[in-house]
Amino acid sequence: MRIVLLGPPGAGKGTQAEFICHHYGIPKISTGDMLRAAVAAHTPIGQKMKKIMEEGRLASDDLIIDLVKERLTAPDCKPGYLFDGFPRTVPQANAMEALKMGLDVVIELTVPDEVLISRLSGRRIHLNSGRVYHVQFNPPKIDNRDDETGEPLIHREDDYEETIRKRLQVYHQQTEPLIHWFKERALFHPYFQISGEDSLESIQQKIMDILKNIRPKG
Ligand code: AMP
Repeated sequence: MRIVLLGPPGAGKGTQAEFICHHYGIPKISTGDMLRAAVAAHTPIGQKMKKIMEEGRLASDDLIIDLVKERLTAPDCKPGYLFDGFPRTVPQANAMEALKMGLDVVIELTVPDEVLISRLSGRRIHLNSGRVYHVQFNPPKIDNRDDETGEPLIHREDDYEETIRKRLQVYHQQTEPLIHWFKERALFHPYFQISGEDSLESIQQKIMDILKNIRPKG
């Protein structure tokens, strides 16, 4: 099963991705997680990306395409994968198509901007796993600690209001055109839109209902 989860920052892609990937035994390919890991490890890519991410701007398409291309060569991608945060621009989607990265289904989560701002400012992340919490809506069992490892959670530099607004603007300008791009190709990989405003469980159920009717192309 090869899935793209599309939607604005804070729509719940990361949380739903975790569940889907666990269920299907496929890796989550989150370009955001990969870049945050590079920043934390002070690699050359990380050093270049730190400021760009803090300002809510996007990485270059070439950099992202190289990262994803390389990631797809890993054996764990054999049974499929879920893209979270990729593609983010039309050129990235064109590259995905040109490089024949397989795709079975696209699911878009929709959430209004004002809800996203409240969600993102309360969001906390476990850096190593990408697990996502919210101080109010999905709190960890122990304050500011990851449920599974007990390690501290982080408040992402880009989850402060000014940067969130910038990220939403970038989403509307650069990522939203992908909705049309994917819908035009719905014959090849069906496109579903669901509200990201329901409870986590209800969204999970809707996603499962969609996925159980998808027949992955061999
Ligand atoms: P995310 O965790 O998906 O919200 O990504 C965090 C940040 O990483 C974004 O604000 C961008 O700066 C960068 N980033 C992640 N994925 C991409 C992508 N596909 N294209 C360009 N920049 C990206």
